[in-house]
Amino acid sequence: MKIEEVKSTTKTQRIASHSHVKGLGLDENGFALQAAAGMVGQELAREASGVVVEMIRSKKMSGRAVLLAGPPGTGKTALALAIAQELGSKVPFCPMVGSEVYSSEIKKTEVLMENFRRAIGLRIKETKEVYEGEVTELTPCETENPMGGYGKTVSHVIIGLKTAKGTKQLKLDPSIYETLQKEKVEVGDVIYIEANSGAVKRQGRSDTYATEFDLEAEEYVPLPKGDVHKKKEVIQDVTLHDLDIANARPQGGQDIMSMMSQLTKPKKTEITDKLRKEINKVVNKYIDQGIAELVPGVLFIDEVHMLDIECFTYLHRALESTIAPIVIFATNRGKCTIKGTEDIVSPHGIPLDLLDRVMIIRTLPYSPEEMVQILQVRAQVENIQCQPDALKMLGEQGVNATLRYAVQLLTPASLMAKINGRDEINKEDVEEISQLFFDAKTSAKVLQEQEDKYMK
Ligand code: ATP
Repeated sequence: MKIEEVKSTTKTQRIASHSHVKGLGLDENGFALQAAAGMVGQELAREASGVVVEMIRSKKMSGRAVLLAGPPGTGKTALALAIAQELGSKVPFCPMVGSEVYSSEIKKTEVLMENFRRAIGLRIKETKEVYEGEVTELTPCETENPMGGYGKTVSHVIIGLKTAKGTKQLKLDPSIYETLQKEKVEVGDVIYIEANSGAVKRQGRSDTYATEFDLEAEEYVPLPKGDVHKKKEVIQDVTLHDLDIANARPQGGQDIMSMMSQLTKPKKTEITDKLRKEINKVVNKYIDQGIAELVPGVLFIDEVHMLDIECFTYLHRALESTIAPIVIFATNRGKCTIKGTEDIVSPHGIPLDLLDRVMIIRTLPYSPEEMVQILQVRAQVENIQCQPDALKMLGEQGVNATLRYAVQLLTPASLMAKINGRDEINKEDVEEISQLFFDAKTSAKVLQEQEDKYMK
């Protein structure tokens, strides 16, 4: 199993607008603080979510799901994310929309399965032998180009690593030099080099960077054993889906036709049931050996009424499996016909037997003051300055249209302010921007009013 190459494929874009949400913002007794952890208002729903978190922690949620029911723009996604955050910082959160299951290439249940696996994390603890220390020297050594061409090539690189025990010089493969350059490693940085994979990690200046590459070179220049050498516990968080992707091999041969056909086929189709079974087997082995630990996350399915009866049956069964994420549905529909049936009407378009297992939490529209507060939080994380009366005006826009619309106006309004030579958004900017863009309701109304001008 290739763990080294795994890069997380979390759907980052979709949760970027909720980056201010850090948790539910409850006090030690489970009561919601008016504004805390990035959350504002919606107190009852937050407290109910707190109960859900407690149930998950005490393992009383298995086989059950949560439904957030409320009008659009009442923070359902924000709440679901907050639940995931409360469960731990590295708990996977996978948001999807019901209609995502309808694709011409992939089966509906396949899409659901993929998202299920995106929402199940695996924490892998490995003890690796590493060379760790502060870089005291970084010298590429060149030789004449062995191919007889012009110029010189790097034949090896000398790295000085300083540890508590003293400084040691390592003579390493040139590919390590490339990595060090790419990662902008400089003298003075603390790095470690994994003994068997050759992965280089840098700690310090900004983040920890990691680059993996193939160290065929080990036989070329073996990493010496010595006092720089030590064992280090390395923890990696991945999702089951990350493992599926990393281990999916391209199908077909290496000829040009089959390579071209790969271009048109989405990579998703490569993940077969057989592959998933194999991955599960390896994962289970790792768990038994105490190397890995499962971290069930949160799968958020918005517009759940878009799912059909086949999907519901699948979900119902999947909820009961031993490794299932917490499933949180969301809807803004009341009673409606279950998709895929002729005339079965059910609350929220969810079959009754599944509904029986669902804990329903209601979300309510925000007051203008709460809208302003949320806008303020967003402006802060987006580093946008906004005058109080401009914020108030945006809040009113939120009441008339939706909160999301108002939040989305922040960026163009700040651009408008910049164009007008200011750093701070004022009332005029908001007015100007509202004349340029329409919210959905106004746009629909305008079209309806001018209906006679359009071709039928
Ligand atoms: P829904 O799923 O109900 O449509 P949402 O969570 O997707 O809602 P919006 O309601 O569209 O999000 O919210 C727009 C913005 O306001 C998002 O950035 C969201 O994170 C934020 N937001 C919504 N509710 C709250 C809240 N109670 N506290 C803080 N931020 C919120």
